Amino acid sequence: MKPMSQSTMHEAEYYEIIDESNKVAQCQLCPIRCTLLVGERGKCFSRVNIEGKLYSLTYGYTDMKIDMIEKQHVYHFFPNSRVQTFSTFNCNLDCDYCSMPEKLGVDPSEVGAKKLAPDQAAMFSMASGSKVIAFGEAEPLISFEWVRDTAKLAQQRNLKVLLRTNAYFCEEPVSEILEFVDAVTIDIKSLSDSGYQEKCHAGTINDIKKTIKLIHEKGKLIELNLAIHEALGNTEEETRELATWIKEELSPSVPLHLARLIPSHRLKELQPTSTELLEKCYEVAKDVGLEFIYLDNVPDHEATNTYCPNCKELLIHRGASDTEVRRVSLQGNCNKCETNLNIVFK
Ligand code: SF4
Repeated sequence: MKPMSQSTMHEAEYYEIIDESNKVAQCQLCPIRCTLLVGERGKCFSRVNIEGKLYSLTYGYTDMKIDMIEKQHVYHFFPNSRVQTFSTFNCNLDCDYCSMPEKLGVDPSEVGAKKLAPDQAAMFSMASGSKVIAFGEAEPLISFEWVRDTAKLAQQRNLKVLLRTNAYFCEEPVSEILEFVDAVTIDIKSLSDSGYQEKCHAGTINDIKKTIKLIHEKGKLIELNLAIHEALGNTEEETRELATWIKEELSPSVPLHLARLIPSHRLKELQPTSTELLEKCYEVAKDVGLEFIYLDNVPDHEATNTYCPNCKELLIHRGASDTEVRRVSLQGNCNKCETNLNIVFK
């Protein structure tokens, strides 16, 4: 490992020195709460104790691209819009089916990653003509300080902010960052602690549900994703459990995405989820009474469209490469029967 230069690093927030004489730090960004001796890095590889101060190794390091918002598996926030997406480095989970394993356990300064100051990131987003700035793909909250600083500037410049996260973070930093965020999409990995431990090697479902409720209570638009596959232990029973929890604890109008697993990383030998299993899970969520259920990674399937939960009219059609908003008002209501659709356009 090369010696680390403090001048290129940013002091982390949300940590405490728990042993002054030995300069031992405890990170309090996520519930893992790593205890770090001098020179040690956290489980996420992004935070390091240097002489009793915790530093972020990933502040400002990011990939960026412009995409349609639907590519982020977000269907109720500015449908059919271009979004400037920033994808940072590292994660506090270590999922066996991670779609970006090349971004795990990386010191971005050692792999030639691009570095952007928050004002540069906000300026790029404005210049791109996007209405929305998104932080996602790799876990953005591992780079909490940079994402918070950038989101704040983006909002000041009238951009909307979308966050895609695994939600396994502590209440205080989540509450702080939500002040600068308009919508959140959350990838739920399992409905049990054993599922999180076996397939993602960290995480507890209660911590994640607590974060989701907090985001909902703060009035942010939420969309939830669950990857369906027998090998993940996510099938009809788990879909029923999650859909029931959404209906009872959040709202039946919270969109639920049931995603086909595209095998990758340590599970790349698996077959993708069958359409038959996805359709069974879709019917289960419908039976529970959720109003907006989508199948993801199943191009051209009718369950990628938005229908009015009241009059059943087809309102937004999603093809493999394009989205057509047909009968939704700018206020997010069905143009035929005026039912509110929990869709944001402005
Ligand atoms: S954010 Fe990283 S260093 Fe901090 S507790 Fe979580 S895994 Fe550990």
